[in-house]
Amino acid sequence: MTQHKDLRIPNTGAYVLRHARVPAVFFDGAMPGLAQDSEGCALVDLTITDGKIAGIAAAGSAAPGPDDIDLTGRLVWSTLIDIHTHLDKGQVIPRAMPDGTLDGGAIGTFEDRKRWTHADMRARMSFGLRCAYAHGMGAIRTHLDSQEENAPTSWDVFRELRDEWAGRVELQAVGLVPLTFFRTPWGKELPGLVARSKGVLGGTTDAIGYYDGARNDELVALLNLFFEVAGAHGLDVDMHVDQSDDPAAFSLPLIAEAVLRTGFKGKVLAGHCVNLALQDEATIKRTAELCAKAGIAVSTMPTPMVYLQDRKPNRTPRWRGVTAVSELLAAGVPIAIGGDNCRDAWFPYGDHDMVDTFQQSVRVLQLDHPLTPAIAGIGPASAKIAGFAGTGRIVAGAKADLILFAARTLNEFMCRPQSDRIVLNVGRRVTDPLPDYAELDAILAV
Ligand SMILES: [Zn+2]
Repeated sequence: MTQHKDLRIPNTGAYVLRHARVPAVFFDGAMPGLAQDSEGCALVDLTITDGKIAGIAAAGSAAPGPDDIDLTGRLVWSTLIDIHTHLDKGQVIPRAMPDGTLDGGAIGTFEDRKRWTHADMRARMSFGLRCAYAHGMGAIRTHLDSQEENAPTSWDVFRELRDEWAGRVELQAVGLVPLTFFRTPWGKELPGLVARSKGVLGGTTDAIGYYDGARNDELVALLNLFFEVAGAHGLDVDMHVDQSDDPAAFSLPLIAEAVLRTGFKGKVLAGHCVNLALQDEATIKRTAELCAKAGIAVSTMPTPMVYLQDRKPNRTPRWRGVTAVSELLAAGVPIAIGGDNCRDAWFPYGDHDMVDTFQQSVRVLQLDHPLTPAIAGIGPASAKIAGFAGTGRIVAGAKADLILFAARTLNEFMCRPQSDRIVLNVGRRVTDPLPDYAELDAILAV
């Protein structure tokens, strides 16, 4: 029997993937008539023409062609979306080494930023993108630390890479600064740079009193300013929110109230929000409903949070460090899952592989039975939240950017690393290997 990784994919860009099992959530409501199995997947024939999905039909009903591939019920997913990562910080180990704490992440990043030349950033960000592409990621939103001394270089590199990777990995960037920066002269310039670069405006409310001297009672004024500035520049926003185990450092309801108060019209994504899970049940419910009313979506990044939150020396953590995802979903808040930091001062692990992030997140969040919301969070829901046009859905007319797995069921999918997956870009097999870590030796040696 042919090994999955040895499946022959025609280079013509025109063939039928027969008996492909697709989680119906990827159809995004477009194929209501198809029968689904107990895991919410449908068995279909996918007709690929000119690198696009030309047709989706019940298995066995597509017209046969000479180059057809019978997948015998194996899973086909869209290429995946990582809605929240930090390509600018990544791949610096051992030049910077995390110590497992949030303070260590902030200090280590502050020190490493001094080495962020154009060449250094380009090498590391390219490395991260090559990992992502080989694993089957089709779209990435990266945050870029956007302090005055770094931002011009970081955004230059980002714009170059966005152009280079167009058609393979769709890239977005978020200009990330603490909210207090919007009171400074640089904070008045940054939104223009972000708008010219077609980016998203970022801001962090994490422990803002601790790092920036702005107590929570100043936060309302800072949020007013932030949403006014973003609105004036026509920007969407993506914030780092409440990455804290202190229930009192709770800014998510203030953000929702600020959106409603200012009438902000752009998209709002709140990342992390982990201390929501430490509030009492009534507060969690009220806050989730407020977020839904304000149209706020939430991104959750379980892999670095499990590593960073509730870590104390010689003590096993007592909570999982993630936000109240099930309660947010129940209130109608759109949820996306992100990979976040990768081999940097905040988090030493990761490979920009959302299959790995998904498998871990499902377990950490108990986001299963069914797995549909978790799949949406790295596919169609994520695409809608971020506005990625070409990724995360399997619909007629979409690019044939797909992942073919050896697993036939979602259970089989969850139990193995899927390292024999086949990635298609516009219907053709991606053969680029994962980059070799040795390529980074020279830049990390300085
Ligand atoms: Zn982040």
